[in-house]
Amino acid sequence: MLPICREKQSQLSRQYQQQTLAHAIIIQGIEGCGKEALAQWLIELLICHKPLSANSTAEHVPIVSACRQCKACLLRKSDSYPDHLLLRSENKTLGVDDIRRGNAFLEKTAHLGKVKTIFIPQAQAMTVAAANALLKTLEEPSANSYIVLMTNDLDSLLPTIISRCAVYAIRPMVGEALLALLKPSSHSDAQLPSNVTLSARLNDNAFINLSQLAELTDDTIFQEYQTFNQSFLDFLYLGQSESKVLSQLVDNKHALRWLEKIICNLVRQYYLVKEVEQVTPVVNQKISAQVLNQIYQAIISSNKLIKSYTQANRQFVAEQLLMTINDIVRPST
Ligand SMILES: [Zn+2]
Repeated sequence: MLPICREKQSQLSRQYQQQTLAHAIIIQGIEGCGKEALAQWLIELLICHKPLSANSTAEHVPIVSACRQCKACLLRKSDSYPDHLLLRSENKTLGVDDIRRGNAFLEKTAHLGKVKTIFIPQAQAMTVAAANALLKTLEEPSANSYIVLMTNDLDSLLPTIISRCAVYAIRPMVGEALLALLKPSSHSDAQLPSNVTLSARLNDNAFINLSQLAELTDDTIFQEYQTFNQSFLDFLYLGQSESKVLSQLVDNKHALRWLEKIICNLVRQYYLVKEVEQVTPVVNQKISAQVLNQIYQAIISSNKLIKSYTQANRQFVAEQLLMTINDIVRPST
């Protein structure tokens, strides 16, 4: 397990032991953050009949793990465990039929174990119709089932899916934590094999996309981003929360970049929808890609303007931008 995943592993271990684990779990993290290993560990743990508790260290709670010896573990190892389903698509998208297969699987009684588990490793590949099919299952979770979703892009999941899952976001280490990890004599060093080179460790833990560093490494900013995202979607689709969006655009230095990101995500979601006719009324239906593109252009222009303006004029540019967006989306009003 990579060091950056250990905190979540401790958290999940504790919840497992206290039986407070959510029935739907999203593990989110950038490429290479080690989320696969975390998801695999969790699924093996859920399947195992006789989990083991590892020695606790000073800074971590005991980690529970699968025993790898019980009947369930052995079957799982040989890929013949009947109460687990992997939903991975051969195509680029995960369609509604795949999710229905999952729903049917959950409806049957468990063969061996107490629980049934489903793993969806590329949750961002779900079409909107697939996501809606999954939503029904998430709304009425069965007591003995766990659905583990994994994604490198939380924004591309429907907000209604996210709100019904417990999200475990793996954040790259920054600052002192990163330095401590890289220092040869550090405590963490003892937990790493000696053949792991400094540059390999750096690659595992450093982060490349600097433009998104703020919200990906800082929980507070991540929360702000989530809130802003929701406010802006409310404004875009319902004509609500305009003052909230405005104040963020004026006061939060990240907000304009976030706008670009949100619109890009909407455009991407729009093109991901292959089964539009099956879609229940969700956000994607109401605004066309062409309109989204117009909004995007308006945001880009405002972004350019604001860089050369003073704070006083930031308010003006932000107000103009929201008016423009309103006019694009709701031309009659
Ligand atoms: Zn076991």
